[in-house]
Amino acid sequence: MRTINHWIGGKAVGGTATAGRTERYGPVWNPATGAQQAEVALAGPEDVEEAVRAATVAFADWSQSSLSARTKVLFAFRELVNAHADELAGIISDEHGKVVSDARGEVQRGLEVVEFACGIPHLLKGDYSDQVSGGVDMYSFRQPLGVVAGITPFNFPAMVPMWMHPVAIACGNAFVLKPSERDPSASMLVAELWARAGLPDGVFNVVHGDKVAVDALLDHPGVAAVSFVGSTPIARYIHQRASATGKRVQALGGAKNHAIVLPDADLDFAADHLVAAAFGSAGERCMAVSATVAVGAAADDLMAVLTDKASRVRVGPGRNPDSEMGPIVTAQARDRIVGLIDAGVRQGARPAVDGRGLVVPGHSGGFFVGPTVLDRVTPHMDVYREEIFGPVLSVLRADTVDDAISLVNANPYGNGTAIFTGSGEAARRFQRGVDVGMIGINVPIPVPMAYYSFGGWKDSLFGDRHVHGADGVAFYTRGKVVTARWPHVDHAAGASYHFPTAS
Ligand code: NAD
Repeated sequence: MRTINHWIGGKAVGGTATAGRTERYGPVWNPATGAQQAEVALAGPEDVEEAVRAATVAFADWSQSSLSARTKVLFAFRELVNAHADELAGIISDEHGKVVSDARGEVQRGLEVVEFACGIPHLLKGDYSDQVSGGVDMYSFRQPLGVVAGITPFNFPAMVPMWMHPVAIACGNAFVLKPSERDPSASMLVAELWARAGLPDGVFNVVHGDKVAVDALLDHPGVAAVSFVGSTPIARYIHQRASATGKRVQALGGAKNHAIVLPDADLDFAADHLVAAAFGSAGERCMAVSATVAVGAAADDLMAVLTDKASRVRVGPGRNPDSEMGPIVTAQARDRIVGLIDAGVRQGARPAVDGRGLVVPGHSGGFFVGPTVLDRVTPHMDVYREEIFGPVLSVLRADTVDDAISLVNANPYGNGTAIFTGSGEAARRFQRGVDVGMIGINVPIPVPMAYYSFGGWKDSLFGDRHVHGADGVAFYTRGKVVTARWPHVDHAAGASYHFPTAS
């Protein structure tokens, strides 16, 4: 059985066993077959201590390195990630289950953040105001925080960590990543690529683990900031616990993303995109469309095309180039999804397409659930109230666009949303009226480019800064403003004791 260890101080290191302490390991499954393929070391507080210590030592030099030196490493890292993109995608597919082309897309979106971070000299430029007062200038600049931690979910094992570490490291911080224990291997290849790019040992570290490792990071006085992406209950917990120890925190949570379809939309176009957004990556995306709101006369026609397209999605192992949708990450997650579909049907939803009990030939042990479309879903149903995080599209109905907007706004989540319409007026009303952070107009998964920032509202984000883009740079640095005078010294004038005002 392959063992996946931590990466601390520039090399792979064993778990707590190296110091004679109790070892803990977790299983890493192959979701397409249902077999265990590896075990991952689960860090104890001692491993976290070792990683934070290595990062603290590395920070001293890295934070003082020139912008040119940092940029060279980032460009080299960019080239290496690009060269290893297919390998990374394969690793992701094997542990997560998503199809390889989708995994390749996630690597590409992560790479774009690396490319953004290559521009760090420009991004860190401060302001300068000449002569704010007689003989006085004022300027600002930003400095790194120190050791910062990233705690990430299973669903994007390369991209979500890359929302964080390229920006944090470019800003001069040292980074400790605690990736999901369900698909830990991508982070190990990324660590190797950082080392090969010339990043000094200890600037990027990986500790694998569960709540034990997370709590040790949250409580560690040597960690200055925590970036988290995962489910809402854990995001809320991370925000509270890390804030309580004085850390800067951004904690991105779960989602229930609605797509509104108006009767004037091209329904075939909308259905194509809705099916892709609901069932791509088996619905295990924080920006997946899980609720469609059909407005007025759109409903019955939309249901007909959605049903047809959803029934034709090809489900199979992620490594099979013919598969459009892979398995669910674990058996436990699959059972939870099936349980929620059961509850939806019990509570009155109509299963237009039912993915329960799907068996993929040759992969009977795999964790598969087929695409599922539930019609006549209402807001009180569990299938609507819970984030399912699986291939389930709930269809609700509303009389008007304003009713649909009210429905979106009544939902506690506010990550992403989309409208399909031919009306600019309706789209504008929607973009201004929804309490959601990321909005698509005839675009179902409106993930901002790396040079914008990613983040939702309400229960989808705790803290104020979004990730990557300008917000990412602001999150991983703190500002100084300098007021400077280089006076012609007139020894005769002496000091003044009133409050300083511009003269
Ligand atoms: P999760 O919340 O279970 O786990 C996320 C991380 O927290 C993992 O590293 C995990 O080890 C750790 N963790 C889990 N339980 C913990 C606990 N009790 N105490 C401390 N740490 C704990 O999420 P997941 O299942 O890995 O990922 C799916 C979730 O992530 C979904 O809710 C999805 O919407 C969300 N997500 C959100 C975004 C976003 O940008 N808002 C992006 C991707 C995923």
